[in-house]
Amino acid sequence: MELGASDERSGRGTGRRGPNRGEGDELRRRLAAVVGAEHVIDGGDAEEFTHDASFMEHDLLFVVRPADTEEVAEVVRTCAGTGTPVVARGSGTSLVGGPVPLAGGVVLSLDRLTHLEIDVPDTVAVAGAGVITARIDEEAGRHGLMYPPDPASVELCTIGGNVACNSGGLRCVKYGVTADYVMGLTVVLADGRVLRLGGRLRKRSSGYRLLHLFVGSEGTLGIVTEVVVKLVPLPRHRATAMVTFRTVEDAAAAVARVMAAGHLPAALELMDRATLRLVRDRLPAGFDPEVEAALILEQDGNEPGPVLDELMRMVEILGGVDDRIAQSSLERDRLWDARRNFGKVLMASRHHHFAEDVAVPIGAIPEMVRRVRRLEEETGLEICILGHAGDGNLHPTILFRDDQRHLVSRAAARIFRDAIALGGSISAEHGLGVLKRDYAEAEHGALAVGLMRQLKALMDPQGILNPHKVLPEQPADDDFLNRIPGWSRPGPRRMEAGV
Ligand SMILES: Cc1cc2nc3c(=O)[nH]c(=O)nc-3n(C[C@H](O)[C@H](O)[C@H](O)COP(=O)(O)OP(=O)(O)OC[C@H]3O[C@@H](n4cnc5c(N)ncnc54)[C@H](O)[C@@H]3O)c2cc1C
Repeated sequence: MELGASDERSGRGTGRRGPNRGEGDELRRRLAAVVGAEHVIDGGDAEEFTHDASFMEHDLLFVVRPADTEEVAEVVRTCAGTGTPVVARGSGTSLVGGPVPLAGGVVLSLDRLTHLEIDVPDTVAVAGAGVITARIDEEAGRHGLMYPPDPASVELCTIGGNVACNSGGLRCVKYGVTADYVMGLTVVLADGRVLRLGGRLRKRSSGYRLLHLFVGSEGTLGIVTEVVVKLVPLPRHRATAMVTFRTVEDAAAAVARVMAAGHLPAALELMDRATLRLVRDRLPAGFDPEVEAALILEQDGNEPGPVLDELMRMVEILGGVDDRIAQSSLERDRLWDARRNFGKVLMASRHHHFAEDVAVPIGAIPEMVRRVRRLEEETGLEICILGHAGDGNLHPTILFRDDQRHLVSRAAARIFRDAIALGGSISAEHGLGVLKRDYAEAEHGALAVGLMRQLKALMDPQGILNPHKVLPEQPADDDFLNRIPGWSRPGPRRMEAGV
């Protein structure tokens, strides 16, 4: 077990030491006094907390499982006293190394903070950070309400993790991302003080929006312990279609066309031939996987007639070579199951893979797709093109053989640069974590990243909260991936493709 900061694995030291072994025993005793000895875990029992759903992993000192905000605050205060790193963890479904404890220290698991209240009159949910996101939507549904942000990992990930990563999902094209729903937060700061921001009210125009500083901060500015999220009315009807195209470029152009025509689908997902082939066994009967590209399109609303009419109008504008409307909720569910489980299917396949998560303005989707295709031709790497195309979020997923691994870093860097050149982002919804931190300045510029560093120093002067994440540490070059711990010599395969 590692006790302090690690230069070799992180690429750069933190300057902090963390406790030595004697101090470690004392730290364990003090943490156990806060949360109970059974909630301080190490050794083999802590293995699952050393990694996330990417290829990265790192040893840790202890996993600590507090029961409420007060215990979280006391744990952080205790760690701050010894300069011990604290890494917040939800379910560990991050795809960018977000909760991997790169400087060792304590992994603070929020999995016991699972209280959930659906407040119907105020149409909000109040959830402990460890609540699984799907549970909020399910409970809201019993009251005719909905919590829209729905990452493909919705059955696994936590609302605290979603807030920390500003997660998106399939319904975000119409409904927006996590940030659009967060109304209140309870946050434990780096010195253990408890900050309560926002609440159950819909409007507020009084001062800086500190609340949103924590959304997308990936556990580097504070530990979220409770979240108040907005709920919306649950639409009573949905209609879903799959529209197919001769080329993926045609499909991308159709996405831009339908959005420009003033339509707002509830979901609009792009899948190319390589993607469809992988999920072919999950598609409903009659939905052809042997096409070059397909869009899965959904509309929702309260009246079945207008919902279907609107869907048909969009299908017409998309102008594919063929279309098929789901005829039953079973068919619809299978269609979405095929899309949602792409990552799982890929994991079970023989392919090595690396999944990207870029966003571009809607009008630039066709050009981004063309650039990815060109990259594929030039490198010989197979690249699945899929994503939440309706909001410009593409997940180009590189499939590669062992002898092609050395080509992946340069290809991934080129995708980053192309997205930025088109006015886009290197991370639409997964966060920067370790994986993309070195490209932060290429996207945001030196001034913005300089301000981010100042904020981090102000809020976490010891640098104990999730060290080595988000802020760049090394040059943004073609070799970035080869420097990430675990990439060149991958361990056991995990879910590297949550897209
Ligand atoms: C199969 C699969 C599909 C996916 N699909 C999508 C998708 O469609 N859209 C999408 O946006 N993402 C997707 N993801 C990525 C991932 O699920 C999200 O980033 C999710 O929000 C992570 O939640 P988590 O609870 O697992 O957090 P973790 O992975 O445990 O942590 C993620 C980051 O948040 C921080 N963190 C966690 N909890 C807290 C807290 N309470 N306070 C402060 N910081 C905290 C951690 O330190 C870490 O930096 C997918 C992942 C997988 C494996």
